[in-house]
Amino acid sequence: MISNWGKYPEIDAEEVLYRDKNTLSLITKGKSWIPRGMGRCYGDSALSQVVVSSLYMNHFLAFDAQTGVLTCESGVTFEDILNTFVPMGWFPPVTPGTKFVSMGGAIASDVHGKNHHKEGSFSRYVHSFRLLTAEGENLLCSRSENPEIFDATFGGMGLTGIVLSLTVQLKRIESSLIKMESLKTRNLEETLAVLNEFESATYTVAWTDCLSGGNKLGRSLFLKGEHATLSDLSGHKYSGSPLEVPQKIKLTVPFNFPSFALNPLSVKAFNFAYYNKQFSKEVSKLSDYDGFFYPLDSIYHWNRIYGKRGFTQYQFVIPKKEGYTGLKKIIEKIGSQQMGSFLVVLKTFGKQENQYLAFPEEGYTLAMDFAMEPRLFPFLEELDAIVLEYGGRVYLTKDARLPKDTFLRMYPQAENFLKIRNLLDPERKIRSLQSERLGI
Ligand SMILES: Cc1cc2nc3c(=O)[nH]c(=O)nc-3n(C[C@H](O)[C@H](O)[C@H](O)COP(=O)(O)OP(=O)(O)OC[C@H]3O[C@@H](n4cnc5c(N)ncnc54)[C@H](O)[C@@H]3O)c2cc1C
Repeated sequence: MISNWGKYPEIDAEEVLYRDKNTLSLITKGKSWIPRGMGRCYGDSALSQVVVSSLYMNHFLAFDAQTGVLTCESGVTFEDILNTFVPMGWFPPVTPGTKFVSMGGAIASDVHGKNHHKEGSFSRYVHSFRLLTAEGENLLCSRSENPEIFDATFGGMGLTGIVLSLTVQLKRIESSLIKMESLKTRNLEETLAVLNEFESATYTVAWTDCLSGGNKLGRSLFLKGEHATLSDLSGHKYSGSPLEVPQKIKLTVPFNFPSFALNPLSVKAFNFAYYNKQFSKEVSKLSDYDGFFYPLDSIYHWNRIYGKRGFTQYQFVIPKKEGYTGLKKIIEKIGSQQMGSFLVVLKTFGKQENQYLAFPEEGYTLAMDFAMEPRLFPFLEELDAIVLEYGGRVYLTKDARLPKDTFLRMYPQAENFLKIRNLLDPERKIRSLQSERLGI
């Protein structure tokens, strides 16, 4: 049985490691298949009859220490890059909220980080990649070679082919630390004001309490950060080892929690404790990059707290204009139905990167986890209606249930994507449960 991070859906599938194109075509003959990396998408994007894992393709191929240009295979993860290149003074240009994501997955979802408002998504830093298509062609794709296929692959959820390798620009850093400030806001209005006020900061994010209502609705812990320079470290205990990679003891959730462990009371208590973990209104400090970018990675298998039934993440973006009203409506709805989520993350996005299935567009994005329960999908359809009303869309890499007609209204550019699909894979050999559901 196989599933992704949300543990829903779980299916019986054949999982094979990618070795070469001839073996792949023999194994997948007459069957549908989909590429897979670290399985950190939440729902059914990386599930099919045959799941083709990139995880043996985990080699660095070339690195220019002067320019920071890295060529590697697609199974290399953010963790591999951090462990190897931070000590040399280079950092991923964009990173998702977990480092256990492969480069192939980063391309297929065109991942964003806490710097999208300023520095865009992953695609912006990829010079080129090699793609093996459903027909067995090995294509070099870049902004000048096969440019439409290049663009459509970012956010294309693995449906244009399997990315074999890529060349990406890393970011120069002077230290492995983040100079961060955190600030408590009292309500949604203040949270959005702070997110907008600090738009020139490289990294920003707000952890929002979604279960307090009234004049506390949308109160958050707002964080901003910059890569610390050597002068920021002077006199600090790290000044002698500015590029050290953090080594921490990791905790593990050893088994699936029983379903009663997660209830409106425990979620409310968690949100209260998280908001109040910071006593004073403002705090500044140096943090290691793990603590700033990947706080959840310190607990292995944290997805087990949602129990055997699993969970899903609902992440949407809505344009800034009327963003406040749209977000307020959604947070009110979550609170009134006691459908709270442990951690709700609010970020700002800059411009959309491509005219295919790119998720980010200029606006606010909110992400929240919900345990699977019978009333969940009808509830999420109500949220879809609000997201649509405000001109937004949901993130496909987190999705396990979006209805096809809602998807087409959220992603009118799907038409452009289908043209590329028809060109590359007219017989639809590459298919996921998600692509079948959404008609792509
Ligand atoms: C805790 C957590 C935090 C997250 N935070 C963020 C965030 O801040 N921002 C963000 O954008 N995302 C975030 N994500 C989502 C995650 O970055 C994406 O789902 C990513 O695509 C997962 O990569 P993966 O290697 O696990 O790929 P998988 O989950 O295995 O696959 C995801 C998609 O990529 C395709 N794919 C995988 N490998 C290849 C390949 N070699 N060639 C072609 N297609 C391929 C699959 O077909 C599938 O469609 C988060 C996920 C988790 C669990």
